[in-house]
Amino acid sequence: MTYKEEIYTLRELEPGIFRIGNSGVFMDLIVGEHRALLFDTGYGFGSLKDVVRSITDKPLYVVNSHGHVDHACGNAQFGGAYIHPADLALCLEHNTPAYRKMELNVAEVPVDFDMDAYLSLGTGALEPVGEGHIFDLGGITLQVLEFPGHTAGSIGLYCPERKLLYVGDAMNNFVWLFLPEAQSLDTYIGSLHKAAAIPFTHMIQSHEPDPVPKRKLWDYLDLAEHLDYETGLSVAAPGYEGDARICTRLGIHHDDRSHPGFAAILIAKEKL
Ligand SMILES: [Zn+2]
Repeated sequence: MTYKEEIYTLRELEPGIFRIGNSGVFMDLIVGEHRALLFDTGYGFGSLKDVVRSITDKPLYVVNSHGHVDHACGNAQFGGAYIHPADLALCLEHNTPAYRKMELNVAEVPVDFDMDAYLSLGTGALEPVGEGHIFDLGGITLQVLEFPGHTAGSIGLYCPERKLLYVGDAMNNFVWLFLPEAQSLDTYIGSLHKAAAIPFTHMIQSHEPDPVPKRKLWDYLDLAEHLDYETGLSVAAPGYEGDARICTRLGIHHDDRSHPGFAAILIAKEKL
């Protein structure tokens, strides 16, 4: 654990579009004329609510991209969150004291961090949300899109007014498809094609600080559709006992993450 005076970073990408960072994960706040929406609540170390309320006092929707511990453990600070039903059990599991404790090694926590209180926070009330639901913030809308793959209940939010697609962990430069909750490679490919048909210009990813141009989707598709598990690099994947492998695009080394065409999938054989 690292103790810090200020644990959250804050950045306004464009008017009303904010990113809040902590411990390697970003949460997104979108502020409309009448309401605001927080997409993901991170690990929930310290008071994320104070950060949100320093930006806006408008009524707030809180939505989880999926149920993982680094996306949904601040839910209780807001009384709960919307989540896809397919990730509800996962979210409850990842909010248990045992899961929360596992993540404390990466934590940037405030100087007055109360570990016992943190471990027992729970999720708050979880409300189901699914495909097609529209959150209307006034002048800005966010449409829910199901993107199964990384988890069964992974969702994105499409903002047509800003041409932004919030994707959580559903698609990025290093997708995890090895945990038990991950879906098949084909399911993931289906989600990539679904995203490709949406007229957005940039993706907002949970572990990438900057917006990612839409053209990056074609690198993800190229890798996923030509994935060769046999030549992948076998690694010890966190929380997984089997043979998980890092697979990259042909000719790009798995360590060459600054390569403009880099894309990787950490995948288990049973997902092929
Ligand atoms: Zn995740």
